[in-house]
Formats: sequence, structure tokens, C-alpha cells
Amino acid sequence: MSSFCERSEAEMRLKIAISNQKGGVGKTTTSINLGACLAMSGCRTLVIDIDPQANATSGLGFKPNGDNTIYEALLNEKAEPAMIKNTAVDSLFLLPSNINLTGAEIELIAAENREYKLKNLINSLPADFEFIIIDCPPSLGLLTVNSLTAADSVIIPLQTEYFALEGLRLLLDTIDKIRGSFNPSLEVEGLLFTMYDKRTTLGNQVVQEVIKNYDGNIFKTIIPRNIRLSESPSHGLPVALYDAKSKGSDAYIDLARELI
Ligand code: ATP
Ligand code: MG
Repeated sequence: MSSFCERSEAEMRLKIAISNQKGGVGKTTTSINLGACLAMSGCRTLVIDIDPQANATSGLGFKPNGDNTIYEALLNEKAEPAMIKNTAVDSLFLLPSNINLTGAEIELIAAENREYKLKNLINSLPADFEFIIIDCPPSLGLLTVNSLTAADSVIIPLQTEYFALEGLRLLLDTIDKIRGSFNPSLEVEGLLFTMYDKRTTLGNQVVQEVIKNYDGNIFKTIIPRNIRLSESPSHGLPVALYDAKSKGSDAYIDLARELI
């Protein structure tokens, strides 16, 4: 892939939360593969796994049971260099998660500035990441609030199935509330259609319906349902390394191009 990471100083360090409180819509798949495509195009990229399920961690080839994870980093509001892992992709790094993070949601409730833990942590990181991708859990709890407070923008994956729009209003309301309180400049980078099956009319209907009812940004790139995308995490690899010729790989390259 040719290098197309040409971001100016002022644009450096775009922090993007991948969020939707609905489960299984493609947040982690997007975090891993968008992150990998950005990195392969020459942008130093960090994926932060802030989901206790730790799927981005295992999907990038790490056992989700180590110390030195996002859990310790959040509580200390600081990432030690040993916490940042190199991945199989040059220029792609991971701040891993761990099941202990489930406890953080409760432990943080009484903490001062509890909404700003991730933001402070990110400010403690070396300045040379051009993209920081935050893989959010399927909830609107404190970990997601921290993510939306720390982020410049949000990508909202929507599965092209019935009920795709269900819950979107709630997420958009949450984003509005975060703007009004902790992060006035938070933007919606775009809705992203995922798991699109062109053989069914349903997928197309859902896309049309969302376009009709949503007046914000929607990515032109649509992520198809692709078996390679679902297989690659069990090999601990982004799809671009697992099967570079797959439709899934092409789609995430297009998404990275569209984003940059
Ligand atoms: P959770 O809410 O549990 O964190 P999620 O939103 O992160 O889920 P993923 O884990 O990315 O969703 O995807 C859910 C399942 O669908 C996974 O098994 C994944 O491999 C599969 N999947 C995601 N995107 C695609 C796709 N485009 N084609 C085929 N399978 C996909
Ligand atoms: Mg996930």
C-alpha cells in the first residue's frame, strides 16, 4: 500500500472513539482494521482497548490477562512505556485491556475527575502518535464517557440489519451531553455501515432508511460482511496481514483513505 499519511502538525494526533452501546456491531473489527490500515499507510497509530472483554487485545495477538494494561493506566492516569505493545504491523501499537477493567467502572465512581482519566492518560503518552483509536465497550457507562471525553471525534458502526437505528438516538443524545459538559469540541466523524450483505435487500433498505433519517456525516465506504474479517482475530492478525486480497481488507483500506 502506498503511503498516504500526510497530516500537518496542526492535525496531529487525531483521537477517534469507535462507539455504539449496541453489542456486536463491528466496533472492535473496525478498531483493529482501521488502525492497521492507518499504520500501513505510514501513520503511527495506537489502538486503546478500553473494553473489559479485551477483544481488540486478543484480536491483535495478545493474551488478555497481563498486568500493565489500560486498567492500571486509567487508575494512575498515566501509561508506562512497557504498557504500549508493538503489534505484527509496523507503526501499529496497542494499549491492551484485561478483564480487571470491569472493576474500574465501579472503582472510578468515587474518584475525583472520574470522567477525565483517559484524557489525562492520553496526555501522558509520547506525542508522536498520529492516530489514537479507542475501542469502546458496548455500554454508555463510565468507560465510554471517558472515551468520549478524551476523543476528538466518534465513529459509530451500524450493522446493516433491522434495529440498526435502535439506540442511535440514545448514543447521539449522550454525545450531546458530553459536548455540554466534558468535551465541547467532540464531533461525529461519521456513521459507518458494517456487515453489509449485497445479496439481501434488507441491507440496502437499512442503508437507505438511515441515509433518509440521519442528516450528519455517513462514511461512503461500506464494510461488507466478509468471512476473512471474522476469522482474522483468532489468528491475532488484522485482515490486511491475514488475507490482504479479501474484500474486507479492501474495505478497511478505503475507510482509512476516506478518513485521512
Ligand atoms: P462488542 O459490542 O461485543 O464489543 P463489537 O461491536 O466490537 O462487539 P465485533 O466484535 O467487531 O463487534 O464484531 C462482532 C462479531 O461479528 C465478531 O465475531 C466479528 O468477527 C464479526 N464481524 C464484525 N464485522 C464483520 C464483517 N464485516 N464481516 C463478517 N463478520 C464480522
Ligand atoms: Mg468489541
